[in-house]
Amino acid sequence: MEFIDLKAQYAALKQSIDARVHRVLDHGQYIMGPEVAELEERLAAYTGAKHCITAASGTEALLIAMMALGIRPGDEVVTTPFTFAATAEMIVLLGAKPVFADVEEDTANIDAAKIEAAITPRTRAIMPVSLYGQPADMGEINALAAKRGIAVIEDAAQSFGATYKGGKSCNLSTIGCTSFFPSKPLGCYGDGGALFTSDDALAKAMREIRVHGQSGRYQHTRIGVGGRMDTIQCAVVLAKLERFEWEIRQRIAIASHYDALLAPHVQTMRLKPDRTSVYAQYTVRIAGRARVQEQLKTLGIPTAVHYPLSLHHQPAYAAGRAGESYPAAERLAREVISLPMHADLDEAVQQRIVAALRDSLV
Ligand SMILES: *Cc1c(COP(=O)(O)O)cnc(C)c1O
Repeated sequence: MEFIDLKAQYAALKQSIDARVHRVLDHGQYIMGPEVAELEERLAAYTGAKHCITAASGTEALLIAMMALGIRPGDEVVTTPFTFAATAEMIVLLGAKPVFADVEEDTANIDAAKIEAAITPRTRAIMPVSLYGQPADMGEINALAAKRGIAVIEDAAQSFGATYKGGKSCNLSTIGCTSFFPSKPLGCYGDGGALFTSDDALAKAMREIRVHGQSGRYQHTRIGVGGRMDTIQCAVVLAKLERFEWEIRQRIAIASHYDALLAPHVQTMRLKPDRTSVYAQYTVRIAGRARVQEQLKTLGIPTAVHYPLSLHHQPAYAAGRAGESYPAAERLAREVISLPMHADLDEAVQQRIVAALRDSLV
C-alpha cells in the first residue's frame, strides 16, 4: 500500500504526461521554455491572481517572496511553530527572526487571536501556513496586517486548489507561495513551486529575483537567486492539471469518508465551514500514537507524522527560545498521525485502513 500513490496517478495520465515531456525534449528549451509561461498563465487564471511566477521549489518561492518584500536582518516575521521547517528556515536565512504564534488545536493552523501579541515594531510580515490543505484564517490575518501596513505571505505549499470564502488559496493575501514537490496535492516529478500576487511591482521584483536579479539580460539591478522551475517540470504540472479538479473532489470525498468512519474513535481535524481543504494530508490525533503506527506498519499500512516537533523545539530553531511555549503546537506534535491519502485511494483499501486503525486502539 502506498501512502501517496503517484504510480496510479501516472498510469492514469501517462499519455498526456509523456506527450508533454517529449514535446520539451524535442524543442529543447529546457530553461524558461514555452511551458513555463503557459503554466504561469494557467495557474494565474486558476487562482484569480493577476500574476503567477514559477520557482525552483516551494522553499525558493518563500525566499523570493521575502526578498521582494525587502525583509532584512533584524526584521521579524510572525508565523506558526507547527509547520514544515522551510517556512521558518527562509526567514532565518535572510537574517530575520521567526516570531511564533501558537496554533488552534482543532485545525492545526495559526491562531489569528494569538498573532497580535506577537507583533512588534520590527514585524514586517505575517506568514500563515494553510496546513494539511486547509486555508488559515486569512480574513482576520489580512485585517491585522492592514492595520499595521505589513504584508501577508500565505505558505500555501499544501493548499493549492483549496478555497476560502470563495477565493482560491494562493490568491488570499499580498503573496501566496506554493510547492509542486511530488507528494503535494499538485505535484511535478522533481522540485517546483510558484508565487502568486496581484501587485504589479512585487511581481516584477519576484520575476527579477528569480533570475539573479536581472531586469534584462546581464542587467543585474538587484540581488537575486537561481530560482527557476525547469521547463520539463512545468510540462508535468500542465498535464496533471487535466484531472486536478477530479482529484480534489476525490480527496474531499475520501476525507469525508474517513471523518465519518473515524470520528467516533479518534479526534479528527476540524474543517471550518467557510472554506475547503485539498487534504495534502489526512491527519487525526491519537494519544499513544507510536503504538498505533507500529501496529499499522506490521499490517503493511504506511502512516506519517506531520510534524513530530514544534519548530521551537527543533535544534536549529531552539536557540534563545528556552522560555517559549506553544501548548497547542506541542500537543499536536505528540498526537498527530497522517493516514494514506491520494485521489486513487479506493474504498476497499480505505476500509482496511480504518478497520486496522480501530483495532489498534483497543
Ligand atoms: C512542502 C512545504 C514547503 C517547501 O516546499 P518545497 O517545494 O519542498 O521546497 C514549505 N512549506 C510547507 C508548509 C510545506 O509543506
